[in-house]
Amino acid sequence: MAALVLAGTSDIVVAVASSLLVIASLLGLRGFRQFLDTRSASAWEYGGLGVILFMLIYWTFVSPHVNARSAMISGFIAYVRFSIGWAVLKYRPSERPKYAYYFVSIAATLGAVVHAIRSVAYGLGLAQETTFLQPTPLNVVFLGMATLTLPCLSVGMVLLAHDRLSERMERLATFDDLTGVLSRRAFIARAEAITRATAAAKSTFSIAILDIDNFKSINDRYGHAAGDVALAHVASLISRAVRASDVVGRIGGEEFALLLPSETKEAAGHLVDRLRAIIAASGSCVPDRDVVSTLSAGVDAFREGDTLASVMARADAALYAAKANGRNCVVVAPAMETLTLGHQDGAGFGGKIMNG
Ligand code: GH3
Ligand code: MG
Ligand code: MG
Repeated sequence: MAALVLAGTSDIVVAVASSLLVIASLLGLRGFRQFLDTRSASAWEYGGLGVILFMLIYWTFVSPHVNARSAMISGFIAYVRFSIGWAVLKYRPSERPKYAYYFVSIAATLGAVVHAIRSVAYGLGLAQETTFLQPTPLNVVFLGMATLTLPCLSVGMVLLAHDRLSERMERLATFDDLTGVLSRRAFIARAEAITRATAAAKSTFSIAILDIDNFKSINDRYGHAAGDVALAHVASLISRAVRASDVVGRIGGEEFALLLPSETKEAAGHLVDRLRAIIAASGSCVPDRDVVSTLSAGVDAFREGDTLASVMARADAALYAAKANGRNCVVVAPAMETLTLGHQDGAGFGGKIMNG
């Protein structure tokens, strides 16, 4: 367009500018699709582009026909804009705020409508043009609308890119890199929310603190990398075994927390013990090496007057008892009365030990 203004509307400039415009439009569509992780431009779209470029040259140099050329180019751009508007709506990530996506879709569709009207008007001979971009009323309206929708599309794309970036940052802050489960911070945030809802509903939930046994010796014997593999292995077994409503987080180096909504501590104890057995039976996670991990866990349930910290502290004390009991076992914290009587060292803890 800049070339048109600077060099005037000579045939060659018009042909080059129009070709660049249609090529850029299709590349734009490709970019949007790539961004949305959907199919790229299809073969027939490239075929269509080829035909358009050919006809552009034909209607410019061989048999000049300004109306046909304008109808064709606007028709193609209308198709591209409709496709962008549709793709953005269809492949919008459902868990993200929708406004930026709606904004882009509306801007693209508006642009598509303007181009479609222009295409039909020239195609049916409702508007006439003898030289390219004459200042006819239709062209003035068309250029005005095009000037309005294009920047909207660009601004919208910046909004989408920004949203993509925020999503990545949120994901990094929410999930632990090595194990894929919630980070400590995200776990505590979700657990706090569940604690508030549970207290309001006068309901309960259980928390288990799970810790891999003798993990330091795995690192010492097989190296830190093997330790990392063992950690990821245990975490994936935990993630696979729990239900969708359960919340799993890595709250320390080789320590995980598991929140089981609406579960009594006895039921939770059985579930966690099943998990312990799965991990104990899973075998070596490093081929040709005997890297076997087991874990110990402490379990307790939320009760009236509790905070998240107080339930977690009791589950942690039960974990301590499980370690003292010889590891590879689950201890359910004792009832309140016994807890105040018992000692905090394993055997005297009075919790219920579950091991196979
Ligand atoms: P216990 O059965 O009493 O839990 O013994 P333990 O050896 O598992 O416990 P300890 O707390 O003594 O050691 C935990 C070790 O976990 C120490 C630390 O080097 C290792 N660790 C923590 N985070 C990571 C990690 O991300 N990768 C690896 N490979 N090791 C880690
Ligand atoms: Mg440990
Ligand atoms: Mg530990």
